[in-house]
Amino acid sequence: MTVTKVMQITLLGATGSIGSSTLDVVSRHPDKYRIYALTANTNVDVMFSLCKQWQPRYVVMNDEASAADINHRLQAVKSSIEVLFGEAGLLQVVRDEAVDCVVAAIVGAAGLVPSLAAAEAGKRVLLANKEALVMSGKLFMDTARENNAILMPVDSEHNAIFQCMPDCLTQHHSSVKMVNQEAGAGIERILLTASGGPFRTFSAEQLNDVTPEQAVNHPNWDMGKKISVDSATLMNKGLELIEAYWLFDMEISHIDVVVHPQSVIHSMVTYSDGSVLAQLGNPDMRTPIAHALAWPERIVSGVEPLNIFDVAKLDFEQPDLERFPCLRLCYEAIKTGGSATTVLNAANEVAVEAFLDEKIKFNDIAVLIEQTLDKVNITESIGTLEEILDVDVTARAITNECIAAMQ
Ligand code: NAD
Ligand code: MG
Repeated sequence: MTVTKVMQITLLGATGSIGSSTLDVVSRHPDKYRIYALTANTNVDVMFSLCKQWQPRYVVMNDEASAADINHRLQAVKSSIEVLFGEAGLLQVVRDEAVDCVVAAIVGAAGLVPSLAAAEAGKRVLLANKEALVMSGKLFMDTARENNAILMPVDSEHNAIFQCMPDCLTQHHSSVKMVNQEAGAGIERILLTASGGPFRTFSAEQLNDVTPEQAVNHPNWDMGKKISVDSATLMNKGLELIEAYWLFDMEISHIDVVVHPQSVIHSMVTYSDGSVLAQLGNPDMRTPIAHALAWPERIVSGVEPLNIFDVAKLDFEQPDLERFPCLRLCYEAIKTGGSATTVLNAANEVAVEAFLDEKIKFNDIAVLIEQTLDKVNITESIGTLEEILDVDVTARAITNECIAAMQ
């Protein structure tokens, strides 16, 4: 008789959209998964209720004040949950020997250090935090390979691509394998699908006046604010292009962005014999999360089965790089290479925050990214984590200067 070990999970970004979808999937399989640690930024109220429900061994908050607050509340109910904070706390719960799997679902650059540490510790890494990979591409992939991490893409498109890849390429270290270098696989192209976001049919003039409220109201997906704005500018698809480039070792000229408004096909892979494999499903992140948790097995995710008759019609369009210049900037940054994608990511994060704070207009997001890329000295190669974090800080300062100059 084989006894399957319960997988111990550290969930980074537990209070977010991916965090709650992950907990929903885990709640359906108490025999398979156990939450070892939960982490969040500063939302003590939500974290406290998660603690009551999940009874993790550790909780990590971003700052000392939130940690003290939750610790106080936990002590009042005589809880034995240990509270940590900051980067040191995150690193501890990622590297802990008891942990088998790290779900990397912090949004933005804040997730880089712990996500990379999970790869370095050779864990099963469920990567939702695409910004980490966009910032550190080669370093992240090399680290995952060298330490035999099992890198599972959670982003729905990349998870779909992974599912459409041949078994011989994915059976060992999942997407860590060098797809292009495998003889006989016959992979020709990746078709990365995009919903087109809430403003797919808007003119450039209409785009200028859209509000943060409209931008975060995505037609098909319910997500955090930052990724919702990224979906509206098509920056999300650009970041995903860079993500696919690194995860699947695929030349950018072999990756096509396909606007598919129904979000039923989550991406496709084309083969030399003319076959096109696609992964379909209702747009619900619990499917890719369940797949990434259980692979190579399959588990119930709670997602309703796709009713193909309800879908009825699937449309495909070319993306418009003029109305959505963020996607063009991503193509250019990946071609430039070196530190360009790190700079682009930093500029985008600062610009999106300024847009959400109503300091700039929607179309200014791309303008600011382009200005930052012009002003920052792009280095040809970017090797260490320290270099990457330095570039991030420098680029943010320049984007902030550009915002000030716009006022
Ligand atoms: P979200 O804003 O809903 O949640 C973000 C989480 O990160 C929260 O738990 C928050 O507390 C934590 N966090 C934020 N800043 C932090 C900081 N400085 N330090 C520590 N923790 C911090 O975001 P989300 O929509 O869940 O997205 C998370 C990641 O997953 C993003 O990188 C996003 O691009 C990616 N992703 C999300 C979806 C989706 O459907 N939501 C789909 C694909 C990929
Ligand atoms: Mg996606």
